Amino acid sequence: MRLREQRLINTERVEAIPAWLARARGNATARRLAQSDWLLRRKSDGRFLAAIDGDALQPLDPATMTPHGGISDALRAVARGFGVEVELDEHALPYAALAIPDDYGDAHQLRSVAEPAELAYAGRDRYQRPLWLLAPAARAWLRMREAARPDGVLLDAISGYRSHAYQFGIFSRKLARGLTVDEILSVNAAPGYSEHHSGCAIDIGTPGEPPAEESFENTPAFAWLAARAGEFGFEMSYPRDNPHGITYEPWHFRYSRP
Ligand SMILES: [Zn+2]
Repeated sequence: MRLREQRLINTERVEAIPAWLARARGNATARRLAQSDWLLRRKSDGRFLAAIDGDALQPLDPATMTPHGGISDALRAVARGFGVEVELDEHALPYAALAIPDDYGDAHQLRSVAEPAELAYAGRDRYQRPLWLLAPAARAWLRMREAARPDGVLLDAISGYRSHAYQFGIFSRKLARGLTVDEILSVNAAPGYSEHHSGCAIDIGTPGEPPAEESFENTPAFAWLAARAGEFGFEMSYPRDNPHGITYEPWHFRYSRP
């Protein structure tokens, strides 16, 4: 039996995830993925581009197989077995179009956050999507979740690693709905500045509780985390009146043990 891959391999525009973890929307794609090792997925919108079966590239979406789409970079990364760290490119055209204030980072005491070259599978999130975290954070999260269970506390993950491109997509969709940049920045970090890019941040929930609501602070799960998360290397990033001007987020924790 082949060892099942449990890593996300990152490149500039495309990410490779193990095919067995991907959920296909159609039967033909599902059959193709069942015979493949890796799925190449476009980071900006999650679109399935191609599957890799051994050395063979199997297009899943011929329309997106453009020479400059980043597929060959991803193919090379999978072949050599490691990806690349991705720094934020604020000079990229789509980024400039967002009209994020130039002093955004300074004003919020936030620095741009690079995406890791590789992320580890940390089980499924609340929505049954694969949860990706930096390897030590993934191990710590799984240990913490297990430690809470005997205390009658069920922890689930709402969101872990997010790419710059994904955060960019959140912005673009909200702008298209008519929100202003200021309104969006009051609840979402600017693309490139979210702790979620690091693979060390995780939004935690508990069954029956809506995701990412302040009411989470009144749950037994939050009380458990307040008492125990530190033992596992996690701390709350955005307490009340934090210096970043980010609203209180009792659900957002960061793995900070080196
Ligand atoms: Zn968060």
